[in-house]
Amino acid sequence: MIKKLPFSKEKILEITKKYRTPFLIYDEKGIRENARRLKKAFKDIEGFEEFFAVKACPNPYIMKILREEGFGMDCSSLPEILLAEKVGVSGEDIMFSSNNTPAEEYKKASESGAIINVDDISHINFLDDTIGIPDLICFRYNPGPARQGNVIIGDPKEAKYGLTKAQLIEGYRIMKEKGVKRFGLHTMIISNELNREYFIDTAIMLFDLVVEISKKLDIRFEFVNLGGGIGIPLRPDEKPVSFEFLADGIKKAYSEKISANGLGPLKIYMECGRVITGPFGYLVMSVRHMKHTYKDYVGTDSSMADFMRPAIYGAYHHLTVLGKENKACDHKYDVTGSLCENNDKFAIDRMLPEIEVGDILVLHDAGAHGKPMGFNYNGKLRCGELLLRENNEVIQIRRQETVEDYFATLDFKQLEKFKV
Ligand SMILES: *Cc1c(COP(=O)(O)O)cnc(C)c1O
Repeated sequence: MIKKLPFSKEKILEITKKYRTPFLIYDEKGIRENARRLKKAFKDIEGFEEFFAVKACPNPYIMKILREEGFGMDCSSLPEILLAEKVGVSGEDIMFSSNNTPAEEYKKASESGAIINVDDISHINFLDDTIGIPDLICFRYNPGPARQGNVIIGDPKEAKYGLTKAQLIEGYRIMKEKGVKRFGLHTMIISNELNREYFIDTAIMLFDLVVEISKKLDIRFEFVNLGGGIGIPLRPDEKPVSFEFLADGIKKAYSEKISANGLGPLKIYMECGRVITGPFGYLVMSVRHMKHTYKDYVGTDSSMADFMRPAIYGAYHHLTVLGKENKACDHKYDVTGSLCENNDKFAIDRMLPEIEVGDILVLHDAGAHGKPMGFNYNGKLRCGELLLRENNEVIQIRRQETVEDYFATLDFKQLEKFKV
């Protein structure tokens, strides 16, 4: 399969007259169509809600689009809750899934009326002491050795998240005793997974738990949250996970486990990030220098500060050399940034058409979990973000950083007076 772009080289050249490279550009049409595909696939599941994992793409313009498409927001910190509120999301359309949570974040989540997803049994007393026990409570389950994870999140029993099964049952029992009547159950054990069966297995696992715990404790669950983790095809030969397949599998398991035991209605929640925006963001960069030593290097005007995944996970992200799409990929390059770190590479030993200084490179699938991870290490100023609107207009949705931003936390006046 060819990895397509939602813009032409001409369009990018026009954009670079106003906004210099590097920049990350999002495709609004792609994001909206994808969101509608997801909603359509799950339309027969009553009360289905996708809570967008804000950490994947914490840009309020993108979040506002997703809000308009009917998504809630999955937040894990106070600033993420503030961002959700800025785009008009509040109350139980916010899922607060944190871990090792500070008191002020629970306070904020409680004020905003968010669904509080509790990551540890010790937090029951912590909640009691800080905000009191909420009337809707959700626990995050960690199946430990009962399930296998994947490379990014790791083995569930090695993962810091969630409660063991015994703790889970104890947690609901205590909450029931404290008078809680509304319950939810959550898990998140996988990341960037393309094996679609895995998500059905997760639904079955949670439905089985709902049956077991409902009977044991005589409580009623309002929802299960299947978490996120749906992967995206990064390599041209990979296939996306079919939303329809997931919805069908979940519906079948629901009728066999939940309906058959008279435990409906049980709402199904998801909190995907990557699959929602990942494929619809593109990092556009220019070639600044070509270097030929023991290897051939393409030096771009971007760096891992703008997109971290290839450097920190060794992740493959496809590269297109604009205007050279039909040329033979007969040159082997390392495509680098300018950071003084040898893992600052977007690609290693990548076969590409012959590249010259001034060429424009587009890194695909940069719309999630890459830009927001970026740091200022080595004094690197992070790139801005643009939005390609459905009418082909381009607007800036975050400007590039400046030296002033980098120095914003320093007081140079005090430094002048500082005697050494
Ligand atoms: C990161 C995260 C998500 C989103 O994961 P994706 O891989 O982007 O779908 C959802 N829920 C929790 C609790 C997370 O930490």
